[in-house]
Amino acid sequence: MRYCARCLYPANAKPTIIFDEEGVCSGCRYHESRSKQLDINWEERADLFEEILEEAKQMAKQRGNSHDCIVPVSGGKDSHYQVWLLKEKYGMNPLLVTFNHAYNTPAGNRNLYNLIEKSGCDFVRYTAGIDSVRRISRYMLETVGDLTWHYHAGIKTYPFQVAVERNIPLIVWGEHGFAELTGIVSLEDFVEFTRWTRKEHDMRGYEPHDLVGKGGITVQDIAPYIYPSDEDIAKVDVRGIYLSNFVYWDATRQAEHMMKTWDFAPITYERERSFNLHSKIEDHANDVHDYLKYLKFGYGRATDDASMEIRHGRMTREEGMAMVKRYDDREPSTLQTYCDFLDITKQKFSDWIEPMCDESLWQKNADGLWQPQDAVYRHEIGELEERARVTPSKERTLSDANRRMYYNPVNPPLKSGDRALDQPSISFKVV
Ligand SMILES: [Zn+2]
Repeated sequence: MRYCARCLYPANAKPTIIFDEEGVCSGCRYHESRSKQLDINWEERADLFEEILEEAKQMAKQRGNSHDCIVPVSGGKDSHYQVWLLKEKYGMNPLLVTFNHAYNTPAGNRNLYNLIEKSGCDFVRYTAGIDSVRRISRYMLETVGDLTWHYHAGIKTYPFQVAVERNIPLIVWGEHGFAELTGIVSLEDFVEFTRWTRKEHDMRGYEPHDLVGKGGITVQDIAPYIYPSDEDIAKVDVRGIYLSNFVYWDATRQAEHMMKTWDFAPITYERERSFNLHSKIEDHANDVHDYLKYLKFGYGRATDDASMEIRHGRMTREEGMAMVKRYDDREPSTLQTYCDFLDITKQKFSDWIEPMCDESLWQKNADGLWQPQDAVYRHEIGELEERARVTPSKERTLSDANRRMYYNPVNPPLKSGDRALDQPSISFKVV
C-alpha cells in the first residue's frame, strides 16, 4: 500500500485522495492552502459571510419570522462553536435543529443539554423511532457496510424539512468535512449544500425511496430522510452554507474556546479507537462505524486524528504512527451491543463485511483468517517522508496543556466528577 509522505493516509482512503510528485496527498495540500493567509483573504470572506447573514436577517424580518437561520446541531464541539459564533458574534437568532439518531452516549446527551442551556436558543429535536432505526441500520450494514446511514441522511435532511416548514432562509453547516480530510474540492469552490452533495457524499448514493420494501423498511420509516421538493426549496429560497468556507477552521482551538466559554466537556477516559477526547464523543456507534472502515480499508479514526495533528505540526510522523499502531486494529467492545441490537451474530457481521474488504490489503492466511497485508507503521521513514515534514508547531498534541483534549497514557486527564464524562458506556441512550 502506498501512504502519503506527510500524513498517514493510504492510497485507498475514502473519499479518494491523490498524491502529487512529492508523494504528498491532496488532503495535506488542501490543509496547506487553508493556512496560507496570502492565498486566502479571510477578511474578505468574513465580509461575504456577514452579507449572507444580513440578507437572511432581512428575509426573516420580511417574513415576520423570528428565526433567521437554522444550525443543525449534535451537541458536539462544532455545534457549540457554530451557535456561539452566530449568536454572540453576529447577533443572529438561530433555531437549533437536532436529528436524534438514537445512538447517543451519556457524554453526548450531557453536551447537547449544555448547548441548549448555554446558548438560550430555541431548539427542535426529531427522534427517529428505534424500530425504524434498527431496520435501516441492519439493511444498510448488510448492503453497504454502514450502520449509521440514518445519521447522515437524517442530519442532512431534517434541517431542510424544518426550513421549509418554518420558512427559514438559511442553514449554516460547520465544516465541509470531505474537503478537510482529503482535499476533494478547493476552498475556491465555495461549495454550498445541494441535493446532489447530500446524496453523493452523505447518503452513499441512496435516496430513501430506494430502501422501501427492503429488510422490512416501510414508507413511514423513511419519512425523516425525504428531502423537500425543488418547488418547496425554491419557495423558501433556502440556502445551505459551510462556515469553514468563511472562517479559518481550527477544530482544536474552537473546542478549547467552547470549553472555556460555554463549558463544552470532553470525556476523561481512554477511548478504544482514538486518542482524541473531544471529537465525535456524542456518537455511540462511532467505534463500530470506524472499525468497519478499518475492516474494509485497513485504517481508522487514529489515522484520521493523527493525520490532522501531523498536518498542524503538533505531532511527528513517528508519534502518529504509534497512535495508529495502538488503536486502529482494536475491536470495539460495543460491537456486541450493536450485533445484539440488530439481532445478528458477530459471525454474520463478518460474513456481511467480507465481500466489502479491499483485497489489495486484506488476505486470508493459512488458517482462513483475514490478515492486513500492510500498515503505515511498517514503512520506514525515507527521504520523501523527511522532505514532506511540516514545520513543527511549538504546541504538542500530547502536552500537558492538551491534557483534556487528547489522551496521553503517561499523563491522563483528571476525572470531572460527572459519570457521563468519566466512564465509558457500552449501551446507547435513545433519548
Ligand atoms: Zn497527506
